[in-house]
Amino acid sequence: MSKTGYFTHPDCRRHEMGRGHPECPERLDAIDDRLLVTGVADALDRREAPLAGESRLALAHSRRHIESIQALAAELQEMGKGGLSDHLYIDPDTAMNPHSYTAFLRAAGAAVAATDAVIAGEMENAFCAVRPPGHHACRERAMGFCVFNNVAIAALHALENHGLKRVAIVDFDVHHGNGTEDILAGDERVLMVGLFQHPFYPYSGTNPRADNMVNVPVPAYTKGDKIRPMIEDVWLPRLEEFKPEMIFISAGFDAHREDDLGQLGLVEDDYKWITQQIKDVAKKHAKGRIVSSLEGGYNLGALGRSVEAHLRVLADL
Ligand SMILES: [Zn+2]
Repeated sequence: MSKTGYFTHPDCRRHEMGRGHPECPERLDAIDDRLLVTGVADALDRREAPLAGESRLALAHSRRHIESIQALAAELQEMGKGGLSDHLYIDPDTAMNPHSYTAFLRAAGAAVAATDAVIAGEMENAFCAVRPPGHHACRERAMGFCVFNNVAIAALHALENHGLKRVAIVDFDVHHGNGTEDILAGDERVLMVGLFQHPFYPYSGTNPRADNMVNVPVPAYTKGDKIRPMIEDVWLPRLEEFKPEMIFISAGFDAHREDDLGQLGLVEDDYKWITQQIKDVAKKHAKGRIVSSLEGGYNLGALGRSVEAHLRVLADL
């Protein structure tokens, strides 16, 4: 059995938000290409992401939000028949084309299916190479390229449908995971640890909304040598004390030095180190169970190399 699952689906490439948008289909090609050329792909248990059911979306989102996205999807289908423009904007950064709704369900479905497979013991851990990302998606609204919160849905699925009692979420994207915080602040079954550039989009996270949100704001131009001790001093003691039964990762790679969407200075070695810290906690308390899902990462070369580094640790390569 492969130790590490890799969940993805071609439908995730068909969602696109207009020419020049950084959250583009080529991101997934960059990851796939890198994993193929380095041989890492051979070591992974590759699986097709299923479509998430509505009941799964409703774990993290209001009925009103789900229905508003479905209404846009229906409108796009109608527009398609008339040959009109094929994008609708949900917020200034976030658009839908006629294929987007299916991609949304695949992205959430990947995280849910990965959770099922890991809890069933079919694999120790898993990575979801999906788009759109999810960590800015709030209970009531889409924002910042995100529509449904893939990681929050999967974490709640583990709690509600698999009977786990404590799960941790680790978010190392350059942006604060405000959507995950919106959905899970105050839920004592969840501990979220995050780091993000501050001050920076979405300009939140410095006043945590509840004790289960452990945020580490980091000034622009900080590198790994300063970030590693912050993780050791702030994240690790809380994770250790919490003893999660499973760990979810909002794996954004836009804190990479070469990524122009943020100004932090992480490199591949830092992603390796961070992943190893998470894995050590998972080994100790959670039977090694980790589900990691792609969030940001917009420099295609750096994204491919960083995901490779992350997966090499997850898969012991
Ligand atoms: Zn980001």
